[in-house]
Amino acid sequence: MMKNGGSRRLFLQKCLTVGTGASGIGMILAGCAGTKNTAMAGKPSPEKQGNPCEDLTGVDPVDIEKRKALGYVSLSPIPDKQCDSCKLWIPVKEGKDCGGCLLFTGPVSPEGHCTYWAPQV
Ligand code: SF4
Repeated sequence: MMKNGGSRRLFLQKCLTVGTGASGIGMILAGCAGTKNTAMAGKPSPEKQGNPCEDLTGVDPVDIEKRKALGYVSLSPIPDKQCDSCKLWIPVKEGKDCGGCLLFTGPVSPEGHCTYWAPQV
């Protein structure tokens, strides 16, 4: 009788030990997964990293074509003719990285340029 009770107790202790260990590993793995997901949550996807003004997500395809037709680039080849010194420039709003342009919708880099660049007066 004592021998069976002792054996049962030993069996239950082993089950609890293994169960606790297994759930501990599960919690660690879940924690790692959660950490990874949390760390990635606020970051842009790899294709959106870099210049945020090049992210055209949600921009009307017609305006994307306008940008191309005007030769818009996010880094001006002419240093003193950048979007932020153009009269068609819409300044960057507080807390944002990109401005805009009166000719098309979508983000515009302050350092950008297109063939319609015109000096501010
Ligand atoms: S017209 Fe061209 S250069 Fe001027 S702000 Fe618009 S995109 Fe930039």
